[in-house]
Amino acid sequence: MNASSDKKPTKVEQKVVVITGGSQGIGRALVEQFSDEGYKVITCGRSRAKFDNKNITYASIDLGNPFHVQTWLSDLKCIDIIINNAGQLGERGPVLDNDYMSWVDVHKVNVNAPFFVIKAAKEKLVKNAIIINISSSVGRKARADWGAYSVSKCALEAFTDILSEELEDAIVFSVNPGGTATKMRSDAFPDEDPSSLPSAEKIASIILDWVKRPAELNGRKLNCRDELLF
Ligand code: NAP
Repeated sequence: MNASSDKKPTKVEQKVVVITGGSQGIGRALVEQFSDEGYKVITCGRSRAKFDNKNITYASIDLGNPFHVQTWLSDLKCIDIIINNAGQLGERGPVLDNDYMSWVDVHKVNVNAPFFVIKAAKEKLVKNAIIINISSSVGRKARADWGAYSVSKCALEAFTDILSEELEDAIVFSVNPGGTATKMRSDAFPDEDPSSLPSAEKIASIILDWVKRPAELNGRKLNCRDELLF
């Protein structure tokens, strides 16, 4: 018996994914699918969601508060993937009709929170960590009547572009889910039939597939709709 065979097998570390906004919608579907793949999932929302799964740790926090975010991630040693998914729709209609506080709240969640999360996680990221910012069609091209939401998603795209250039050891890209049957979508289009849209589970499965083959995704602006055509 040689010396190396005396050693105990090295424990394969469970990969860690941080997913914001896991209480419902696309985030919840992502949480469930990453956990099924064997990831340790760290997620959050404001509501008191429950997950009966030891691989999922849910915290009730406000992502708009940097101290909440720092405390939430403080116990983690390593992070393999971050998905900034949480979002707020705010008010539809002419941009200058947006209420002051609604404008601020939308930016807190859609722009500030991804910055808070990535900044708090920076020293914990593994080499070639994946960072995904969930954007929108109106973040790729600003659109009238989408108010703070469109402005904030355009800012999120700019933040993603900058990170993809500045973070040498990470793969950073944005994902536009396209219309998806969730509460946010029904708030935006109350008269729409949700069965005409892809489910949150379908969108999550496309994102999971990208995570499995991240080569050459750095800096890309991906559209789930492109994958649905095949
Ligand atoms: P959703 O069903 O409304 O879920 C939003 C999630 O964000 C919830 O889990 C919510 O948790 C969380 N969240 C919001 N504010 C928060 C805060 N201050 N602190 C912590 N968590 C907060 O939305 P969705 O449709 O799944 O959207 C997910 C992402 O996809 C968003 O970024 C959205 O902009 C984007 N998107 C969606 C569509 C679509 O058609 N659905 C299309 C394009 C882009 P709590 O309610 O528990 O706080």
